[in-house]
Amino acid sequence: MTDLITDLRIAIVGFGKIARTQHVPAIAATRGAVLVAVADPNVGDAGVPLFPDLQALLRDGPQFDAVALCTPPQVRSAQAAIALAANKHVLLEKPPGKSLSEIALLLTAAQAAGRTLFTAWHSRFAPAVEPARQLLAGRRIAAVDITWKEDVRVWHPGQAWIWQPGGLGVFDPGINALSILTCILPRPVFVTRAELDIPVNCAAPIAAELKLTDASGLPIVAAFDFRQTGPQSWDMRFETDRGLVLLSHGGARLSDGDKVLVDAGDKEYPLLYRRFVELTSEGRSDVDLTPFQLVADAFLIGRSRTVEAFEDRA
Ligand code: NAP
Repeated sequence: MTDLITDLRIAIVGFGKIARTQHVPAIAATRGAVLVAVADPNVGDAGVPLFPDLQALLRDGPQFDAVALCTPPQVRSAQAAIALAANKHVLLEKPPGKSLSEIALLLTAAQAAGRTLFTAWHSRFAPAVEPARQLLAGRRIAAVDITWKEDVRVWHPGQAWIWQPGGLGVFDPGINALSILTCILPRPVFVTRAELDIPVNCAAPIAAELKLTDASGLPIVAAFDFRQTGPQSWDMRFETDRGLVLLSHGGARLSDGDKVLVDAGDKEYPLLYRRFVELTSEGRSDVDLTPFQLVADAFLIGRSRTVEAFEDRA
């Protein structure tokens, strides 16, 4: 008798920017995965059967095994709970939801259903991140300086949800830096100080400055800003006992002093889907809330400053 290996049939919920630009091509490039349907209220064509929401997809759609939740974070955990109750594996885009406590409930539900729950920190799959972790493991790190500055009008035009409660504002990209930091440093880190700049007409910060440390007292500073025009910065500088290590371009490039060790293209999402397929086939979950906890702590201890109104002009 031959073993039948069937593809993981995936439905995407929330067919916006990240679903179209990354999830669709990554699923197409992943052995053992196939996109079978999409749910989104305002999309005209997705190339696969399309439904207005997750409930309609579950009721009227084709058979499927897993959902990739690419909706705004405010609605994600409610959708995950519905999907798990329907025995689907769940990939949570980052951030995993709008609060920490709701994700703990999802993990319990996933375990009870015997399904995979995956908090998909895509930046951790950037090509220079694991090499950076290995390089830094052999060094004494003296200081870390993170600069994560991008133009919100270029990268998030018309995304009103990002400015609403639970949308995280500049922490939407900033959490990517924290997801990398927490996977490459040898010890857990915690926030000691946060300054949050919140536009007078928004609920979420447009810029933030953080200080963090670890049990050894390592000084870590992070500057996040959504108002960056011109060159964009997604860089992490590590001062070490053997010189400067620079992880830049969002984790795509690694240099050690003058020597470039990695300079590779964007392969985050294909690797992320490979991991998701592995997890589902092994019947395991991968839920790491550490980056989200750091953001929550920044909000808890942060000093807020009201700054000028933000107009999207999208
Ligand atoms: P987006 O372009 O606003 O897409 C979100 C989509 O979800 C929109 O089409 C939206 O429809 C739809 N939607 C809203 N509520 C829904 C519901 N209840 N059911 C089904 N669909 C619903 O946002 P995005 O940039 O793709 O980001 C989505 C998530 O991915 C965010 O958490 C973000 O942090 C993460 N992410 C984004 C990027 C990026 O570069 N953009 C990168 C990595 C991760 P309407 O527009 O009609 O409301």
